[in-house]
Amino acid sequence: MNEVKKPKKPLIYYYGIVLLILMLFNLLLMPKMLERQIKEVDYGTFMTMTEEKNIGRVQIEANQILFTDKKGTTVYKTGPMSDPGLVERLKASGAVFSSPIIQEASPLISFLISWILPMVIFIVLGQFLTKKMMNKVGGPNSMMFNMGKSNAKVYVKSSDGIKFSDVAGEDEAKENLAEIVDYLHNPKKYSEIGASMPKGILLVGPPGTGKTLLAKAVAGEANVPFFSMSGSEFVELFVGMGASKVRDLFKQAKEKAPCIVFIDEIDAIGGKRDGRIGGNDEREQTLNQLLTEMDGFEGNTGVIILAATNRPETLDPALTRPGRFDRRVPVELPDLKGREEILKVHAKKIKIAPGVDFSQIARMAAGASGAELANIINEAALRAVRAGRKEASQEDLEESIEVVIAGYQKKNAILTDKEKMIVSYHEIGHALVAAKQTNSAPVQKITIVPRTSGALGYTMQVDEGNRYLMSKEEIENKIATYTGGRAAEEIAVGSVSTGASNDIEQATKLARAMITQYGMSDNFDMVALETVTNQYLGGDSSLACSAETASEIDRQVVALVKRQHEKAKNIIAENKAKLDELAKYLYDNETITGEEFMNILNQ
Ligand code: ADP
Ligand code: MG
Ligand code: ZN
Repeated sequence: MNEVKKPKKPLIYYYGIVLLILMLFNLLLMPKMLERQIKEVDYGTFMTMTEEKNIGRVQIEANQILFTDKKGTTVYKTGPMSDPGLVERLKASGAVFSSPIIQEASPLISFLISWILPMVIFIVLGQFLTKKMMNKVGGPNSMMFNMGKSNAKVYVKSSDGIKFSDVAGEDEAKENLAEIVDYLHNPKKYSEIGASMPKGILLVGPPGTGKTLLAKAVAGEANVPFFSMSGSEFVELFVGMGASKVRDLFKQAKEKAPCIVFIDEIDAIGGKRDGRIGGNDEREQTLNQLLTEMDGFEGNTGVIILAATNRPETLDPALTRPGRFDRRVPVELPDLKGREEILKVHAKKIKIAPGVDFSQIARMAAGASGAELANIINEAALRAVRAGRKEASQEDLEESIEVVIAGYQKKNAILTDKEKMIVSYHEIGHALVAAKQTNSAPVQKITIVPRTSGALGYTMQVDEGNRYLMSKEEIENKIATYTGGRAAEEIAVGSVSTGASNDIEQATKLARAMITQYGMSDNFDMVALETVTNQYLGGDSSLACSAETASEIDRQVVALVKRQHEKAKNIIAENKAKLDELAKYLYDNETITGEEFMNILNQ
């Protein structure tokens, strides 16, 4: 993107030139062409010349009289007057009544010259300029001429030739998307059993993790029309245009079903609608249209909508509710194994010295995204060229990690070894406390790859299905689990970190609710001490009790959390050996599945 641009003259410059040409044309050329030196005289002169028989040819018109002198060298003109005897006198003077004296351009030609020609010039120039303008703005499909028309690119089959095999790691995401592809190929298999595909699938994850790449791979694998558009392409200058683009896109999609519609960076249109007056009408209308369209077709029409965003938290809740984008596919930063695979995929594109240790590179590039890893490979190749070598070496790769990561370090959280160890203990602490309380696998997966949310570790809880009721013990266990992370830090590391802030918030919320909402306190019985306001918007609550009661509530909340924290610490202390072993495993692998966790725990 660093092609050198010729300095462009501003548009007004071109328009100025056109205007000048036109003015010159009218001022200088036109009169000459049309009126070959006509001398205007008064009627008196005309009469005198007639009397003096000094008139050659005469042409009387409704609004003027044209005549020449005897020799016919000069053409005169004068205004006509009511002069009944004129014809007689002219006859007497021997003037010749002639057909056109002046080779005046025929009315048609003069019309052409004075009106049509400038117009043609204007139009041709205008076309030329708009073309220039559009090239600037980006492609002939943009701007005014196609307003309200979706300019979705349609990939049929694999235009880029990208397949799932080009996307390394991200197995969960690939699995999800492969199912969609399979559905589009064999819809019968699904409809026979009565299953319907989700209408919308939302790929969420930090930048550079391969969301767009995955969508392209779907296009490459699916063998069905694939409409691809970026959210920002819907945003138009005029209110209503974005909405009509959405309408157009879905119309096309329905005609071409089965097909896939991909909306990249959907947060550009799918942001939360705020209730403010004078908010962004255009964006809201576009979003509303999208919601309407998504409701408008049945699950089995064979149109599947794929969208990607790295800011899922900004999306309007209406967009993510079931029936619209009901499946959310996380595309997270790759773990150690994932990083190694991505490096290998991209290393195929360059010449690499034999014996390069990719797992070592992956280990060093902790926290890097897929895009950064691709960049590391490319930097290594560049470095090799600079040094005049034919292949990229281990050293090239290691050096480029620094180049790339140092450039990104401020943006992405990259854990130091010590931090990584603390996070490992913290996450295992949660899981261990949970597992010991219930005697079952508490988690599906734990990773210590930093998340977009800012969390340094991540624990994917076992889905317990929809739980509507929880007993007092279960809530208490949950609070203990929340405190388990901090408890592990205290016991294994000997000091505490800021990593537990979210746990603290969650634990406090639960403890508070137990006392003020669920009637699970020792002495308040079944009295509602708090009322929940606007349940659908965050569930704020307000106290409905006296100040003394409020401080008593606070005391009880503290006591409750403290009790559970102590319990967690006991569990951790009793299982210190397992804690060490599990934390070490997580530290080394960056990911541990629930199964692996239980295996190690029960050994
Ligand atoms: P996103 O859309 O999530 O921001 P992209 O899909 O645009 O990220 O990824 C940018 C580039 O990074 C891709 O073109 C690819 O070269 C590389 N990349 C990212 N993730 C992967 C991956 N999992 N496997 C292989 N290459 C990847
Ligand atoms: Mg993208
Ligand atoms: Zn925690």
